[in-house]
Amino acid sequence: MEVFERIKDVRQRVAEVKETGGTIGFVPTMGALHDGHLSLVRRAREECDLVVVSIFVNPTQFGPAEDYERYPRDLAGDEAKCQRVGCDIIFAPTVEEMYPKGFGTCVQVQGLSEKWEGVARPGHFRGVTTIVLKLFNIVRPSYAYFGMKDYQQLKIIQKMVRDLDLDIEIVPCPTVREPDGLAMSSRNEYLSSEERAAATILFQALELARDRVQAGERDAQALTGLLREFIGSEPLAQIDYIAFADPETLDPVEWIDSDVVLLVAVRIGQVRLIDNTLIAPGVGTPKGRSR
Ligand code: AMP
Repeated sequence: MEVFERIKDVRQRVAEVKETGGTIGFVPTMGALHDGHLSLVRRAREECDLVVVSIFVNPTQFGPAEDYERYPRDLAGDEAKCQRVGCDIIFAPTVEEMYPKGFGTCVQVQGLSEKWEGVARPGHFRGVTTIVLKLFNIVRPSYAYFGMKDYQQLKIIQKMVRDLDLDIEIVPCPTVREPDGLAMSSRNEYLSSEERAAATILFQALELARDRVQAGERDAQALTGLLREFIGSEPLAQIDYIAFADPETLDPVEWIDSDVVLLVAVRIGQVRLIDNTLIAPGVGTPKGRSR
């Protein structure tokens, strides 16, 4: 495995592989790698000739009051993990390498970027799409692997790829969870043991909603009320949003008669966590529409 800091070194290795007709699989990350990230790398390893993982805590996707400075960084630990799952190249550039003096261009996927996380974190997705497009141009992957954990981000990247005719297949990968259901996240490191226990409320809420929909409840407002009450019963939890939305447009839905994504953002103490699940209403008789 090679570790590169410079764009030109990555470009050179990628060019060599492409010349011989090899496929490139790419996993962009911010490091502090856990099994969620590694599931993406494993998938890339199975499907591609050269596997590139980028590790870059991207300053432009953090708001001024957010955790850029204290975001966990552990390059040595990340290297060991990447090596174990068969990564070929780590690209870990400096901020100056990615944003040299005078840098002034950004990429914005309009509409999708302004909803949900975009409301809570203005400018966040502009930072994400700008860095991901730069990374795509450097790594030139055939396949790029993204976690469903960040569902809105996945949809925004897919739209960017469509809108800008990028010749890249985006591969969505399922959310990897702790045994108690908490979605793995680098930010889980911030949780105290009491908060860590309370954080399972997110997954439990997703399960509750899924059960209710499967039992015939179709009214998104009623379900949202139920979830507010359920999450509200956890004293350390503060709800940011709960949304039943169209899985592609992310517009809210009122009546669940086709697949929806349930998106939740909840603060546990000072730590803001997000999670989501896709729910298919199934074929049972819906409540309130029985004949
Ligand atoms: P991050 O380092 O948080 O920017 O995440 C890098 C990639 O890993 C993104 O595509 C995330 O969606 C994905 N990811 C993060 N956590 C998980 C998880 N628990 N399961 C699956 N993918 C994840």
